[in-house]
Amino acid sequence: MARYTGPVCRLCRRERMKLYLKGPKCDTSKCPIERRPYPPGQHGRGRLRETEYLLQLREKQKARRIYGVLERQFRTMYQEAARQQGITGENLLRLLETRLDNVVYRATFASSRNQARQFVRHGHVNVNGKRVTIPSYHLRKGDVVSVRSKSREMIVLRHNLDTISRAVPHWLEFDATDFKITVREMPIREQIDIPVREQLIVELYSK
Ligand code: SF4
Repeated sequence: MARYTGPVCRLCRRERMKLYLKGPKCDTSKCPIERRPYPPGQHGRGRLRETEYLLQLREKQKARRIYGVLERQFRTMYQEAARQQGITGENLLRLLETRLDNVVYRATFASSRNQARQFVRHGHVNVNGKRVTIPSYHLRKGDVVSVRSKSREMIVLRHNLDTISRAVPHWLEFDATDFKITVREMPIREQIDIPVREQLIVELYSK
């Protein structure tokens, strides 16, 4: 599956906020948004007319960029969310949050979603005992994600587990000794701590 391979700090600057796409660098003074908190490009500091469309577009782009999903796949997820029962915006966030790469990131196995995606692509992760190499794989209640035994000695993985202080969300049950994480329940909106107004995304796509 295709992915964005351009400069990522530009994406944060475009959204005028930290999206935490680079792992450890995001918490240091090297984060470009600390020094240049305005959008990139020649007209970055120019005046911008805040239209309704612009607000909706920015929320959609922000969500896409946080989870590292390209436009076509994001739209397909939106259509799936609209088909499901319940509030479409919440369904969409739940679909994004239960992606395999996001769960690996939430479990603190990886320092960024990009790194989590790489772990999955390189075959370091099992779901219910079977190797899964699809970062967008959707997890369900009761699924167990584990790091393959051969991969548990990876220095980067050990380093992440030792140094990352991010809290694991309540809808996941994390077992650090077994390198295992279980989906306790599907997340509700209050358990998804991303700064996105999902209603604006729904408004954008329902035009
Ligand atoms: Fe965003 Fe992290 Fe780059 Fe800062 S360092 S701009 S938070 S990706």
